[in-house]
Amino acid sequence: MISIHNEKALLSICREKDIELVVKREDLIHPFISGNKYRKLKYNLSEAKNKGYNTILTFGGAYSNHIAATAYAAKEYGFKSVGVIRGEELEKEVPDNPTLSFAKDCGMHFDFVSRTAYRNKNIPEFQAELSAKYGKCYLVPEGGTNQLAVKGCEEILTEEDAEFDYIGVSVGTGGTISGIINSASPNQKVLGFPALKGDFLKNEILKFVHKENWSLVADYHFGGYAKVKPELIEFINEFKRETKIPLDPVYTGKMLYGLVDMIKNDKFEPNTKILVIHTGGLQGIAGMNQRLKQKKLPLIDV
Ligand SMILES: *Cc1c(COP(=O)(O)O)cnc(C)c1O
Repeated sequence: MISIHNEKALLSICREKDIELVVKREDLIHPFISGNKYRKLKYNLSEAKNKGYNTILTFGGAYSNHIAATAYAAKEYGFKSVGVIRGEELEKEVPDNPTLSFAKDCGMHFDFVSRTAYRNKNIPEFQAELSAKYGKCYLVPEGGTNQLAVKGCEEILTEEDAEFDYIGVSVGTGGTISGIINSASPNQKVLGFPALKGDFLKNEILKFVHKENWSLVADYHFGGYAKVKPELIEFINEFKRETKIPLDPVYTGKMLYGLVDMIKNDKFEPNTKILVIHTGGLQGIAGMNQRLKQKKLPLIDV
């Protein structure tokens, strides 16, 4: 974990508005278990080991960072892994899908289910069916969020980060921001940028936090989860040209697009110090570029 560091993002807009924008490079935590997924799996895997499980079972979609990270981490730590994947049609697409073929190479066994069946993923009957099929499994929920995941994410901020006024982070299932909120200093405000539509997230986060120093900025999801627009892709490419820092299109790209838009619109006082968490997710670029290419849209520079 020596490669994580805080890095100034020297954007011209930040100079113009006198804002200090710093990126915590959690994406560099590990080449395959990217960013926050490492934090979220850490205590879950030690719990699984302590309780004598030898298989990790989890859930995810076709390009899921969590599926890729779990497959790799399970292999590293000597577990078997099962991925319940949303969409039966994906079974024949594994060789062409960079995320799923990576997970498969790590030894993950896939169980492809229909979208309807997938909706039951948290229901005890469905989970009992899975246990009957795969034996005793340690279940990690979709996106990896549970109490132990939040505990892991509480380790993202360090003492030296207390100098920042704002912490910006992308939000999927809410586990990462919950850990950040719990460990933020009282003077700091945490801004979460949901990568998807819907207002259920606030309640998810309230399951894990008891503080009020946070809010969600819901205007930058670009139409929904994994949905992108050419202006988002253009932003990601421009950000990388200016700062040398790569962003992913599903999470960190949207968060920084939103934050930079807020800076442009003077939502922060001059001299404000903002730390954003780079939660990783760069493995998803290959799959996104495949889809952009099919639609003849501009690609993310790699
Ligand atoms: C999963 C993920 C998130 C969202 O984390 P949650 O804990 O689900 O809110 C953010 N960024 C990246 C890169 C991710 O892979």
